[in-house]
Amino acid sequence: MFEVLTAFLFCSEQLDTTARMSSEMECAKVVVIGSGFAGLAAASKLVEAGFKDVLVLEAKERLGGRVHTTKPFTENVIEVGANWIHGQKGNPLFKIAKEENLLSEGPWACKNMCRPGSVSPRDYFFREDGKLVSKALVDQVCARFSKLTEKAFDDEIGGKYRKLTLGAYLDGTFGNTSEDGQQVYEWCKRLECTDEACSSLYEISASQLSNYTELEGGFFNTLGPGGYRAVLDVLLRDLPQESIHCNAVVKTIEWDLVKESDCDEENHPVQIICENGQRFEADHVIVTVSLGALKEKARTMFKPPLPEKKLSAIENLGFGLVDKIFLFFEKSFWPEDCAGVQLVWKEGPEDKNVYDALLEGDAWKQTWFKKITGFDTVARHPTALCGWITGREAMYMETLQDREITDICVGLLRASTGWSVPDVSKTLISRWGSDPQVRGSYTFVPDGVDGVKEHNALASPLPPKDRSRGRMNLQVLFAGEATHANFYTTTHGAYMSGVREAERLIRYYSD
Ligand SMILES: Cc1cc2nc3c(=O)[nH]c(=O)nc-3n(C[C@H](O)[C@H](O)[C@H](O)COP(=O)(O)OP(=O)(O)OC[C@H]3O[C@@H](n4cnc5c(N)ncnc54)[C@H](O)[C@@H]3O)c2cc1C
Repeated sequence: MFEVLTAFLFCSEQLDTTARMSSEMECAKVVVIGSGFAGLAAASKLVEAGFKDVLVLEAKERLGGRVHTTKPFTENVIEVGANWIHGQKGNPLFKIAKEENLLSEGPWACKNMCRPGSVSPRDYFFREDGKLVSKALVDQVCARFSKLTEKAFDDEIGGKYRKLTLGAYLDGTFGNTSEDGQQVYEWCKRLECTDEACSSLYEISASQLSNYTELEGGFFNTLGPGGYRAVLDVLLRDLPQESIHCNAVVKTIEWDLVKESDCDEENHPVQIICENGQRFEADHVIVTVSLGALKEKARTMFKPPLPEKKLSAIENLGFGLVDKIFLFFEKSFWPEDCAGVQLVWKEGPEDKNVYDALLEGDAWKQTWFKKITGFDTVARHPTALCGWITGREAMYMETLQDREITDICVGLLRASTGWSVPDVSKTLISRWGSDPQVRGSYTFVPDGVDGVKEHNALASPLPPKDRSRGRMNLQVLFAGEATHANFYTTTHGAYMSGVREAERLIRYYSD
């Protein structure tokens, strides 16, 4: 009898605790800053777990952040930002897209970008004098280049090369080739800058590349007619419309507002103040703004200021720039079998001698267009091409008028191919570097930086562990692609980081 009573009391006590915890969870005020994959993943996970008071504040008029699906040319989508789902196995976004039938099928399903490891036989490589580089040479150089970069990703770089930049490691191991081969090799390095979002391979660490985990399955998985926006829509399904405020630019995050002695339930430790003067109280805020935005604003945005470790991480990690130049023609002018026009130069910007010569001063601005890797055909747009450019040259390009950029690109296409290139009828040029809410494209690890340490420092919540006190813990949490030590740069990294922070809060109310 006594045992039954004890069990009953224990059980009802447990039920009480569970009920209290679940009511605490329901009452907890959570503000998520940013509506990219990190922010929306965090918000939808929290709502799914039973949090009732979740608010997403988004500075822009639109949702999605660096996912920007638009229809500027025809009824078909163009991706101004993220385009592919990188990898299949273990990729939660690939899983969602597959389950929801959002993936592309047919010829565009897997690849639409030229990469040394996957140069298509239909990529035309043109020298600046208009000569076509032989396919055999392109294949040979690209295969050698891919082998060396794979070694870096697989952490198989030998002793003396480990301390070098990726550019120096490649130069040291690439070996001899013909003059044309050298030019294709320079193109490979230029293209690798788009994957790494860096200005030059001579500025990023070779050994740190192995911290990035490449997921199995195709690297370039293309989405169907709804584009990336359709994947975001899956997350938005679970979020009440009123829980998302657009045009809400967060200016200040005041945290640590409640002192230990202060037991007033109505007091919340965080206050978020928007540029338009709106104020929101919160128990927890999840900051998902880009590393670029943090670089610009972290020192003024937080009161009290962020700890030095966090500020160093923001400073030490790199946030690179990749821009796209979409050229839309009335009709296509390239052969049917052409997947893209790739440009190789006698003196390309990723040639070490050229890089060294142009490092100081402004002379590189005269030849900014040499950083464009080439112009690829675009999924579902049979008369459009997309040019790719990175780094300081991309930032410089952003200062020019669309007309000037377009004229230069058409000039390049005419001079290199010798084809009859018509005038462009419409253009769309991204300007991610000038975007005040993003300030770049994605994260890279500069030479000399310990990536894992800095990604983790960026991800750690505030107040720091040694200052945590009961329910005043986990006031400011950080998500976003830059906070993921293995999947940084990607949409799935952003998504996983949002889920990580939501789960941190769910555990907090369940323990
Ligand atoms: C050109 C380009 C191509 C890319 N291609 C790919 C690709 O093919 N595959 C891939 O996996 N990844 C790609 N990426 C990277 C991918 O887009 C990002 O890693 C991912 O979308 C980042 O999501 P996030 O939630 O971390 O940040 P974001 O998407 O940047 O979201 C942060 C949000 O915070 C908002 N914000 C900023 N400041 C404030 C403020 N003060 N107040 C309120 N809100 C604020 C921003 O407006 C933004 O909406 C690409 C990116 C670019 C730019």
